Amino acid sequence: MKLMRSWVESANDPETQFPLNNLPYGVFSVDGDDPRCGVAIGDMILDVAAMEATGLLRIGDDPVLDVPFWNEVMELGPQAWAQLRLMLFGFLVEGAETKGSVAQYLIPQARARLHMPLLVAEYTDFYAGMQHAKNMGAILRGSPDLPANWLHIPIGYNGRASSVVVSGTDIHRPLGQTKAPDAAMPSFGPSKRVDIELEMGAIVGTGSTLGQPITTAEAAEMIFGYVLLNDWSARDIQGWEYQPLGPFQGKAFGTSISPWIVTAAALAPFRCPAPAREVPLLPYLQEKEPGFYNVTLEVLMQPAGAAQASTIARTNYNRVYYSAAQQLTHHAVCGCEMNAGDLLGSGTISGPTKAEFGSLMELSWGGKEPITLDGGETRSFIEDGDRLTLRGHAQGDGYRVGFGDCTGRILPALKMPGWE
Ligand code: CA
Repeated sequence: MKLMRSWVESANDPETQFPLNNLPYGVFSVDGDDPRCGVAIGDMILDVAAMEATGLLRIGDDPVLDVPFWNEVMELGPQAWAQLRLMLFGFLVEGAETKGSVAQYLIPQARARLHMPLLVAEYTDFYAGMQHAKNMGAILRGSPDLPANWLHIPIGYNGRASSVVVSGTDIHRPLGQTKAPDAAMPSFGPSKRVDIELEMGAIVGTGSTLGQPITTAEAAEMIFGYVLLNDWSARDIQGWEYQPLGPFQGKAFGTSISPWIVTAAALAPFRCPAPAREVPLLPYLQEKEPGFYNVTLEVLMQPAGAAQASTIARTNYNRVYYSAAQQLTHHAVCGCEMNAGDLLGSGTISGPTKAEFGSLMELSWGGKEPITLDGGETRSFIEDGDRLTLRGHAQGDGYRVGFGDCTGRILPALKMPGWE
């Protein structure tokens, strides 16, 4: 697909993340006013909340953009999503007759503060990266063999919605209980192994009914859009707590998402066929046209005081083994009700070579092989003041579809009795 030209000139720049082909949804405020729904176009934000308030834009019977989240639009369903996208194209396409009345609703992104684009109903984290699963097996158990269930089940666990934050939010190093392998007793204090996980987040737009399974075709229709997702992880806390019930505190102190929700419609041209599977999936998980999205992903690290960020990993969303629709199907198949605003983390995305590993645990191979940054500093895990940034875009013919940076800094741990 080619660039669709807009009368917003910055949207036609081949380097912009927000051409007319994208039209991602976010929540913004200017000069401390109330956060409201907006759509990114070039280096501007279209204030669709104000357009709805004046009657220029309307989807559904009641206002849905007068709230600081996109959940009410999600609940209208796929037909309304398509209708809104078409209306936005009509307003912003080159030669649009309404340009005169729409131009006043454009606000420079440089002036805006971005907020959480959705109310996260619940957060589930999956484990869909095969290379990541093999690497973690090799590092933690001495064997890259996949768990017996891995090729059959999209493995996941129920995480915390309360600690999902928007890009730009700094996070304190978590306190927790850890035990060094040679220590007789566990100890309490700041995690020494804070890490990132490079993931994509899928946002459920329409829900399912308690007790009712869904098909992969239904699941695909239910997905509203995607964000970049950094599932911050405390490896030492995780390593002590996770057996036998899985991740808990090591995964509950922060999950960052990019500020713009890129719709499934905007990513549709970048769907690529899934590679052949080792073993066939059970029928309930099979898709008619199995595929993933071709989205280039990178991780940058910038220590406090460093002049610039170093790229520490580059990979692609198409390295996953299960699609978001397959994960959603598996999630709901037991009768678990899914709701608008549910966030599904893909699982850490790693490619086959070291330059493509999506966590420091893998990049430093469990801390044994520290990486060297452009400024000469070395890192096994994240140090206080380090800024970690995820970036991602799909490359079209003369345009790209991006998500905006997903960034955050790790700040020193907070003091509390029991750790001084
Ligand atoms: Ca994760």
